[in-house]
Amino acid sequence: MTWRSDPGGPVWAPPVASAAHRDLCTDCGVSRTADPKRCAAACQFIKPDYPAMETKVHGRARDPARPDELFFGPFRRMVRARLAPARDGAQWTGIATRLAEKLLESGAVDAVLTMAADPDDRWRPVPVLITEPDGMAAARGMRMGYAPLLALLEPARAAGHKRLAVIGIPCQVYALRALEAELGFERLYVIGTPCSDNTSTESFHTFLGLLSDRPETITYLEFRADYHVELRFAGGGKREIPFLKLPISDLPGDFFPLTCRTCVDYTNVLADITVGYMGGEGDQWLLVRNDRGEELVALLGGELKTAAPGSAGKRAGPVKGFLINTARAAGGLPLRRMPGFMRGIMGWMMPRVGPRGLEFARARVEMKAVETVLHLRRAEPRRMKSMIPAHVWALVAPYDLRPEDGETRETS
Ligand SMILES: Cc1cc2nc3c(=O)[nH]c(=O)nc-3n(C[C@H](O)[C@H](O)[C@H](O)COP(=O)(O)OP(=O)(O)OC[C@H]3O[C@@H](n4cnc5c(N)ncnc54)[C@H](O)[C@@H]3O)c2cc1C
Ligand code: SF4
Ligand code: SF4
Repeated sequence: MTWRSDPGGPVWAPPVASAAHRDLCTDCGVSRTADPKRCAAACQFIKPDYPAMETKVHGRARDPARPDELFFGPFRRMVRARLAPARDGAQWTGIATRLAEKLLESGAVDAVLTMAADPDDRWRPVPVLITEPDGMAAARGMRMGYAPLLALLEPARAAGHKRLAVIGIPCQVYALRALEAELGFERLYVIGTPCSDNTSTESFHTFLGLLSDRPETITYLEFRADYHVELRFAGGGKREIPFLKLPISDLPGDFFPLTCRTCVDYTNVLADITVGYMGGEGDQWLLVRNDRGEELVALLGGELKTAAPGSAGKRAGPVKGFLINTARAAGGLPLRRMPGFMRGIMGWMMPRVGPRGLEFARARVEMKAVETVLHLRRAEPRRMKSMIPAHVWALVAPYDLRPEDGETRETS
């Protein structure tokens, strides 16, 4: 089922206003609402306050006595999970869209706000309001790029929807939570996915062009937790490429926008439930964060197969190596290329001895924190004080990366 731009269909993509110019911005949609000035209070890139927002949403900020909350934000429990049967077209097994489908089936919500694919470009996200359970199939799968999800909050309200579910990435969810009280929905369910290394849909097509002679036939791409990128092709072909063999150093320096190199919430800490894969060792990985998250999981009943998440390997070495490479890139030097034969050996070794399960997820969160500090220090040092929360500094401290004068509210 594809979307329609006129109201009334089960998958509706209302037209949206133009975006206001903003400096660091992923066009979450707030600047296209009736009051674009709301960006000042709602934006993750301006002056985020995670402890206050976590307390507002979950009743408490991350707890130092639960060390994994430093990495992943407040959560009740974490599980490895998969949906059985897995849904066709889903990015993994389809938990994110099935949760929303269940909310529509049970009448708990009137509509779901999420992304469908542009009919002319499978990789381009288009924000839609879905009102029928069958319509959720149109949202399955990952697109690369930004689209103004939150610009549809006002059309949703105008259409009479009072109970809403939103599936979003962290920068969208931060702004959604900041505006939640004034939006006045009777009920709001927030299903979050982790997000990292997003880029514009146009740039993503460049990347696909480096991976295949026929990029238009690539139908699926995922960076898996076993250090491989999986590609699927129209016609059923599949290819797995070790991370170390990816043509990352052939990408232009501005391939990843500064927003996505410096955003500070990898795991969507303000969602009711985060549906990802990083800590799942080949399965999906759920972080159930509050009562509403538990309510969502309960909707899936026996369709959800769960297990305790595992953890193995040591992250310190890979994170240190990443820091050295990122420091070079942030200083304008080309990424260090590993000789071809070494890339083969490392590509074989990493899934076997590298960090796995929760340790892999911790490593990725630390790497992202390293990027935030190094890239902001180079490109936007004056923003560091307001943009970098204390938990990011705590994540990079074991790697001797510490705030310099003026980089935190305390040292200015
Ligand atoms: C750019 C990007 C980077 C990601 N990086 C990671 C990562 O590093 N680690 C990790 O664990 N997970 C990551 N994810 C999430 C992961 O790809 C899966 O979406 C998630 O595990 C849920 O799988 P699923 O089968 O349950 O999803 P499905 O049931 O297939 O549903 C996917 C949902 O994601 C929405 N969506 C797709 N593309 C976008 C987009 N561009 N913007 C906003 N929403 C979108 C869809 O509308 C749909 O609602 C990323 C997602 C995106 C969009
Ligand atoms: S990301 Fe959203 S809140 Fe931030 S400046 Fe852009 S439109 Fe505004
Ligand atoms: S990487 Fe961060 S800033 Fe970029 S799209 Fe994802 S959540 Fe938003």
